[in-house]
Amino acid sequence: MARYIFITGGVVSSLGKGLASAALGSLLQARGYSVRLRKLDPYLNVDPGTMSPFEHGEVFVTDDGAETDLDLGHYERFTGVSACKTDSVSSGRIYSDVLEKERRGDYLGKTIQVIPHVTNEIKDFIKIGDEDVDFMLCEIGGTVGDIEALPFFEAIRQFSQDRRGECIFMHLTLLPYISAAGELKTKPTQHSVKELRSIGIAPDILMCRSEYEIPQKEREKLALFCNVRPDAVIPALDLKSIYEAPLAYSREGMDRAVLEAFGITDAPAPDMAKWADVMDRVEHPEGTVKIAIVGKYTQLGDAYKSIAEALTHGGMHNRVKVKVEWINSEVFESEDEITTKLQGFNAILVPGGFGERGTEGKIKAAQYARENDIPYLGICLGMQMAVIEAARNLAGIKDAGSEEFDHEAGEKRFTPIVYHLKEWVEGNRTIQRDAGDDKGGTMRLGAYNATLSKGSRVAEIYGSTAISERHRHRYEVDMTYREAIEATGLKFSGISPDGKLPEIVEIPDHPWYIGVQFHPELKSRPFEPHPLFASFVEAAVKQSRLV
Ligand code: GLN
Repeated sequence: MARYIFITGGVVSSLGKGLASAALGSLLQARGYSVRLRKLDPYLNVDPGTMSPFEHGEVFVTDDGAETDLDLGHYERFTGVSACKTDSVSSGRIYSDVLEKERRGDYLGKTIQVIPHVTNEIKDFIKIGDEDVDFMLCEIGGTVGDIEALPFFEAIRQFSQDRRGECIFMHLTLLPYISAAGELKTKPTQHSVKELRSIGIAPDILMCRSEYEIPQKEREKLALFCNVRPDAVIPALDLKSIYEAPLAYSREGMDRAVLEAFGITDAPAPDMAKWADVMDRVEHPEGTVKIAIVGKYTQLGDAYKSIAEALTHGGMHNRVKVKVEWINSEVFESEDEITTKLQGFNAILVPGGFGERGTEGKIKAAQYARENDIPYLGICLGMQMAVIEAARNLAGIKDAGSEEFDHEAGEKRFTPIVYHLKEWVEGNRTIQRDAGDDKGGTMRLGAYNATLSKGSRVAEIYGSTAISERHRHRYEVDMTYREAIEATGLKFSGISPDGKLPEIVEIPDHPWYIGVQFHPELKSRPFEPHPLFASFVEAAVKQSRLV
């Protein structure tokens, strides 16, 4: 049975708890242990799929089709362990399950209470699959003191009593620097730990985010006031790159402190070669490429977190630094600014998205890339844009568009080259949806296989004609137009195994022009860059040498 590490946060949010958890997971792996990471989110939304990327950042999709928090992306990128449905839960989901059981009569008429009914539901969730790993790392979202999070804190407190000696608590806080006093302040951390202890949780390890080195005196003070061992006060200073976290935190003794807290004294030393190589590539690039991401949610980098990371991984693979610029596609719609805005980029990426706003600009970006031989990667909506562009400008279907935009506008304006997907095959089942099923839970989600054409560029990039990639979409390019569109030079080089759904398009007669209906960025890792991103960045490098 697994040992448990519960990770909580205090003082302020956005301290990088997800990253610290992910880094700890990778450090335990480096010592030969198996890990699984799990996120318990206090918000009341039943799933994060319906939350705006403006508010909550990207929705990360797992192989088994769960729409989860972007922290699961960190977990996967650092540990390489594919997350699944049971690795993410919100208060909303827990309550909804409890209420459903109540409706079914499972509680036999008892009064339903937070303790024990909600907390039991949480404890049952935490335990799923714990016989398969050495360490289960559970991160509690938000900060201690949040009202919504209380049942989670109570549940992990109870859990640590049920499994004495098998659970530890790590608390991440901030030491603010007060310049007038020239000091790092420990008081907010002391208060935060006091708050934790008032609900029965005593942290074993303190991770302290700080902009400056933490003097020994402050470490000792924190240890004394917060009742932890001095070497369990781990400084977490700002990093040059997130990928430095495993090396930096290990140097500060994070993994050692965790093992000591469990009383493990015979752990092998960590093998950090993989991370040293990753950091070497980050720190010593041999060139720079500039890539434009033309999308809608450009104000918030987190909305396309996995894409940004996958491009970085592609850069590591090619030993170049990838400079990404986010361009709001709406700027192209009013004025004809494309050339000035897109000039100077070595490649263009149009990411996924929902709704019509900004799409005319994305179509123009696809056209610009096609006509000017600029490497183009279209992801999900970005693939649909490339197909609409070819249909309109090359196949003569002037009013080509997506049913998504007509549905949104409530009127029929386009020839639906991209249509609402109502039926598809999942394993040996056929999934059917109504046109009316519009919100959460109606998408084609998770891993699906695709068959690539022999001799296509994508088959060469993947080194295979059979792939599996993660999906999150409701609309699909219509096969009926295949012939007309292929005649323009845009080939359907990847199709679902049943031959019904286009998965990849490419222009063989272009330096690099590929659109994919899935999200390759979700499976890219720093030590194992996704082949499409590695190849895309390589194409950008080649393009940069031409100019
Ligand atoms: N809105 C499009 C669809 O539902 C694309 C989705 C996406 O880019 N993730 O098909």
